[in-house]
Amino acid sequence: MHVLLVEDEPAIADTLVYALKTERFEVDHALTGGAALTAFGEKAYDIVILDIGLPDMTGLDVCRKLREISPVPVLFLTARDGVVDRILGLELGGDDYVTKPFSPREIVARIRAILRRAAPYVTPAKPVAATPAATAVPSDTTFHHDTAAMRIHCHGTALDLTAHEYKLMLVFLKNPNRVLTRDQLLDHAWADPGAVTDRTIDAHIKTIRAKLKAAQAGAEDFIQTRRGLGYLYAP
Ligand code: CA
Repeated sequence: MHVLLVEDEPAIADTLVYALKTERFEVDHALTGGAALTAFGEKAYDIVILDIGLPDMTGLDVCRKLREISPVPVLFLTARDGVVDRILGLELGGDDYVTKPFSPREIVARIRAILRRAAPYVTPAKPVAATPAATAVPSDTTFHHDTAAMRIHCHGTALDLTAHEYKLMLVFLKNPNRVLTRDQLLDHAWADPGAVTDRTIDAHIKTIRAKLKAAQAGAEDFIQTRRGLGYLYAP
């Protein structure tokens, strides 16, 4: 597993690099947002650990730029009083955050949890756990899942989805005609479901619908609301 650590404080970075290497992760360390984006362009990473307070730009800006090109999992490192940063980070498509000061062990545990959740999406052969009748995403005439590029196409057009939207779409595509509760959706698309609310799901569904509508320029409602129950993908 390749980790890109973006952290400008040497003491924190050194401790983390050591802890991650001990756990057999391969780690590259970037001191600035610019260096991180350059590194990301040159190599495939499985996860990015991103400090929010960087010298050249904020970690939020880095995440925004990453999201334009990749759904790679992002774990934010935030200051103790950075509540707004944490919320913004998750809204921007971050998967989880850890508040400073933290123990390296906590970071390793969070990374493992994020990668565990990401695994079913990266490896289509593995069905989504705890959701019955989950199968690999079928590529029908409407949707096509490019597993290598981690992109979903609708009527041949690649959808420009955030990481969470992408994960939500995969859960839907793998479970056609099945009502999925908000809890189930949270569970499969977020690394730390406790950090988000039902309204977050609703907001993401809204943006997914808008993107689907734009992609197919039609009026079909692929994702239906089942009031009081959840959502259903009707192919
Ligand atoms: Ca910093």
